[in-house]
Amino acid sequence: MTSSEAMTHPWSVELPEGVVREVVTAPDAVLATPAELTDPADPATVQLCADLVATMRVSPGCVGLAAQQVGVVARAFCVDVTGHPKARTLHGLMVLVNAEVVTASRNEKGREGCMSVPDFTGDVKRASRVTVRGQLPGSGEWVEIATDAFEAKALQHEMDHCAGKLFLDRVAGAHAIHERKVYLEAGELPTGRPRGEATPQ
Ligand SMILES: [Zn+2]
Repeated sequence: MTSSEAMTHPWSVELPEGVVREVVTAPDAVLATPAELTDPADPATVQLCADLVATMRVSPGCVGLAAQQVGVVARAFCVDVTGHPKARTLHGLMVLVNAEVVTASRNEKGREGCMSVPDFTGDVKRASRVTVRGQLPGSGEWVEIATDAFEAKALQHEMDHCAGKLFLDRVAGAHAIHERKVYLEAGELPTGRPRGEATPQ
């Protein structure tokens, strides 16, 4: 990709106004249901993507959300890790349909959290360098995104949701699952991000 192409953000999409949806939590069966290929041009898919972005935006600290997390079995998700301290390469908001990993390398363990598993975090080994391809909602155009570090892991976490998997399915054992610390003590004001804990996605 040339720098001028990068400037136009080929992965950016225009979406209709999204509606905030309720986030489904484990053990809801929808979270364990893998999705088939999803039609990116279907208006329902486009609206779903808009709703995912709207729901992610209103959820404190949330860096990604997949269709299954709002109760829909589809291969669609959004990710935006902008501003996260563990992120290196940044692509801003990504909304992808039928995303798949093209290349993956450099496995690293990291702590993960999930909106659908509100009480626990887990140590998960994932590739810290990936190339992912997926279709844009609406046009169906294929885009390829190469990234690393936290953004790479967030993409894999969301692709797992679309395949009916949670981070709990990827931990090495019970020792790798941790009770989430409370976000706020009684009477404490919000500080914007859960302290020292994994970001929900
Ligand atoms: Zn999740």
